[in-house]
Amino acid sequence: MTDKILPFSKSQLEKITETYPTPFHIYDEHGMRRYAKRFLDAFSWNKGFKEYYAIKACPNPFLMKILREEGFGIDCSSMAELVLAEKLGMRGEEIMFTSNDTPDYEYRKARELGAIINLDDISHIEYLEKHAGLPELICFRYNPGSLKEGNTIIGHPEEAKYGFTRDQLFEGYQMLIDKGVKRFGLHTMVASNELDPEYFVETAQILFDLIVELNQKLGIRFEFVNLGGGIGIPYRPEQKPVDLDQMSAGIRKLYQEKIEANGLAPLKLCFESGRAITGPFGYLVTRTLHIKKTYKNYVGLDACMANLMRPALYGSYHHITVLGKENQPATQIYDVTGSLCENNDKFAINRNLPEVEPGDLIVIHDAGAHGHSMGFNYNGKLRSSELLLRENGEVVQIRRAETLNDLFATLDFDQLNDFEA
Ligand SMILES: *Cc1c(COP(=O)(O)O)cnc(C)c1O
Repeated sequence: MTDKILPFSKSQLEKITETYPTPFHIYDEHGMRRYAKRFLDAFSWNKGFKEYYAIKACPNPFLMKILREEGFGIDCSSMAELVLAEKLGMRGEEIMFTSNDTPDYEYRKARELGAIINLDDISHIEYLEKHAGLPELICFRYNPGSLKEGNTIIGHPEEAKYGFTRDQLFEGYQMLIDKGVKRFGLHTMVASNELDPEYFVETAQILFDLIVELNQKLGIRFEFVNLGGGIGIPYRPEQKPVDLDQMSAGIRKLYQEKIEANGLAPLKLCFESGRAITGPFGYLVTRTLHIKKTYKNYVGLDACMANLMRPALYGSYHHITVLGKENQPATQIYDVTGSLCENNDKFAINRNLPEVEPGDLIVIHDAGAHGHSMGFNYNGKLRSSELLLRENGEVVQIRRAETLNDLFATLDFDQLNDFEA
């Protein structure tokens, strides 16, 4: 069970909406920091352990600045994400660049910043060498194929577009050795939103076995192993968060049996987790505009799937709280909708809630990852603002809402006036 407790009260939130109109995303600094500390603490037995926050989950540099202060690095996979890292003053091995189908200019940017480059394919060794030069340290992304069961979001590894086959790893690392590369990492990422800690222990086992074998066959001494992201979060109240201590203990046991016993320690462990870091600590706050009763009952909000598309995209559950009615019985059944001209613009279908009235503030939970960042402008919807609830209770706007001028910035209306239809 996970209590869906809010870090703010109704009156606090009503006050915030006087300055910042709904809808907005608000992030809880205290919750985020506490989780970050717990994450690092769980793996403190591993010297050099690092979590590279996968910035795509919530690409707000203010949040990254907080996480960096807690000791996190950044995981980037695009030009924009590399530039965000640069703006934050992040450099070198604080940056993991895990991309795929990568254009040459992104490799050049990653090299310029001194990022750790994680290659997705064997053909990229020569591509990288040609366009950006080979760095001293290189990591490969492994796709275990049918060796490992996938999960629902990523699917079966053998059908996923990512990573090297097992044979390609041996061939690829040999190529690196021949080209004079000196330092090596190994990565995999085969799950998304996985709640079973044993899943990550199994992943570590596969990677540790490979590291032993690569050492025996090629003489490589690995510097780090990257277990990827994919740590799930309890979107539903009946789910439990991943037990980090259980996961860490399982991995530690394997580390002793496989890495230490074979003389391959020290080996730094790292993750590039995104969802678990910010997901539970972000809330979409929206106000009820209308109650509509036809064949079904609808709550119509001032937010829409442009603010949070996971329910429409994956049918995902997001918990919903009607502010001030937490203790009222959930006697009504509603579809909770936005205003897009798309019938799947629903945050929830057949959701039991207390009686909702126009004007009620609604909080949609676990919107801190793949929420604002997946926003889009279809139907001319504008992306909402992002706020940060600081540890001292202050609220800071960390991204303003888009305006119509932002939306139309790529159109030239003077050109339109001169244009003959
Ligand atoms: C998305 C992604 C992550 C982060 O995944 P989460 O599920 O948010 O933890 C990490 N690494 C890569 C390569 C990714 O694409």
